[in-house]
Amino acid sequence: MTDLNKSTRRQFLKVGGAALVALPIIGMSGTATAATNAAVRAALQYQTTPKDGKQCSTCANFQPATKGCTLYPGDTEIAPEGYCSAWVIKK
Ligand code: SF4
Repeated sequence: MTDLNKSTRRQFLKVGGAALVALPIIGMSGTATAATNAAVRAALQYQTTPKDGKQCSTCANFQPATKGCTLYPGDTEIAPEGYCSAWVIKK
């Protein structure tokens, strides 16, 4: 094996190793930014569309800064135009 081949092989292994380390980190960060609380969504019949003119953006429980809801721990994907059976008018 020539020195050129050894160098190329070493570079390939370095880049491959870095990619293997980076992939789980990218995957975990993607999961963290798109968290939903499936159990509460199911229990309260959450939907991503308004119902009878009621929607999350007009609900007292909606947390627009975090895209959350006080009744949905850890859920950061509550849509302003979503709705669930716990809707309460914002005062
Ligand atoms: S209680 Fe229901 S309707 Fe109100 S903000 Fe939360 S998910 Fe939306």
